[in-house]
Amino acid sequence: MTDTGLTRLTAAAMSDRLRDGDLSSRELVEAHLALADRENPALNAWLALDGAGARDAADDADARLAVARDEGAAALASLHPLCGVPVGLKDLVSVRGGQCTAGSRILAGYVSPYDAHITERLRDAGAVILGKLNMDEFAMGSSTEHSAYGPTANPWDLGRVPGGSSGGSAASVAAGHVPLSIGTDTGGSIRQPAALCGIVGLKPTYGRVSRYGIVAFASSLDQIGPFARDAAMLLHAVAGRDERDSTSAPLPVPDDLLHLPATDDEAAGYLRGLRLGIPHEYFVAGMEPGVEARVREAVAALAAAGAEIVDVSLPHTDYGLATYYIVAPAEASANLARYDGIRFGHAVRDGDVLANYLATRGSGFGAEVKRRIMLGTYALSAGYYDAYYLKAQKVRTLIKADFDAAFGAGIDALVAPTSPSVAWPFGAKLDDPVAMYLSDACTLPVSMAGLPGISIPAGLSDGLPVGLQLIGPAWSELALFRLARAYEAITADASWRVLEPPGLAALRAPAGIVP
Ligand code: GLN
Repeated sequence: MTDTGLTRLTAAAMSDRLRDGDLSSRELVEAHLALADRENPALNAWLALDGAGARDAADDADARLAVARDEGAAALASLHPLCGVPVGLKDLVSVRGGQCTAGSRILAGYVSPYDAHITERLRDAGAVILGKLNMDEFAMGSSTEHSAYGPTANPWDLGRVPGGSSGGSAASVAAGHVPLSIGTDTGGSIRQPAALCGIVGLKPTYGRVSRYGIVAFASSLDQIGPFARDAAMLLHAVAGRDERDSTSAPLPVPDDLLHLPATDDEAAGYLRGLRLGIPHEYFVAGMEPGVEARVREAVAALAAAGAEIVDVSLPHTDYGLATYYIVAPAEASANLARYDGIRFGHAVRDGDVLANYLATRGSGFGAEVKRRIMLGTYALSAGYYDAYYLKAQKVRTLIKADFDAAFGAGIDALVAPTSPSVAWPFGAKLDDPVAMYLSDACTLPVSMAGLPGISIPAGLSDGLPVGLQLIGPAWSELALFRLARAYEAITADASWRVLEPPGLAALRAPAGIVP
């Protein structure tokens, strides 16, 4: 039994103690591996735990920390704060020599021959990669039920979904198996599961993080981002220009991501004079009353702390869903053409080339992926391209123009719900794809516009977490983290902040386990 309390620390607290030398990375990694090992049969958040690799990386980090401590304060300060801190990766990030299934049977058995850019960056920082996390197949879904390796459970209620597609990444952090994890967000797959699991998740501006070595879903939308209780330092580690992704932006990554206000007073001061827009279109029909109530309370709290609240309209919001479900499947149908049974993983070889191709794809892809490939192929086919794909791209420009107008009129950030509902029971939306798609109504337009958005916990509805979405202009991640930190400061005393996800209590209590 590992009762050390170590799995309850924030990444920042771990980092401080590692530098002080009163905690080793190896101890941290053992505590997290033990918890993950024990609880994964119930959660199914991890598709692979790499105990041996993690222990080696932890020992390396401990050696780096020891050398730096001997050399003095400047050497310690030059280490990235992630040095020695455990992280988990969504199973679509390439790690040399490891699996990379993207939640699909078609990539079963495939071994990555190289590291993704962000894997290299994390290794450089000294972060310890614990393993790979469950996800909807090729990141298509909102519940992680489309994984070929079974669904992940929500730590708040093991009978409910954690959201998706990065459900394993969100559930592992909510359960304390890792303090930090990486997900990807194409239309909501970081923000929505963060909301449903009661943690922080940020989708950066399109281009902030290199996609090199990430399994592609929809290349003009996909972005990598962090999940955490304190996420800024992980973004700092992975962001920045990479020649191997021509869409990664040649912009500096602010070091102030590592220096968010330490005190609540200083943090809350950020709100004074800030103009926050509330887009009324985001309070969509069908939104759960408990979700709307929490979001309205959050807005009232921000106003009481000195922010100016302005009603705004983003009139093309309604088209976010329809245009996304043309553009994303179109790009997916092209990206997924490479899974032919010759180059990657799963292969059926008992006929001629065409028969093998059809049998490999027929048995390798799940139903949702096939649906997307058909939708996308249709939208791109001769005669329909102009009517669907080109039209959707034009409407995408209008969606972006709505945001540009709001920010151009002096709005610093937009405040909205992340998801219209809290976590739902397994199976509730599985037979109704459009109901599943609608759960992303509040995140899709932000993705279509390429903007950054963060989801932060804002209380509970029926005992389940509600997410507050903060949306900013391009490259405003630092401002979003400051705003998020300010909201945390003004709600620091809220009773829901100290709650542990109750779904795991039953697993932990009988054995007397304190994580
Ligand atoms: N749920 C959306 C979809 O199914 C978004 C997924 C994502 O962001 N990867 O496409």
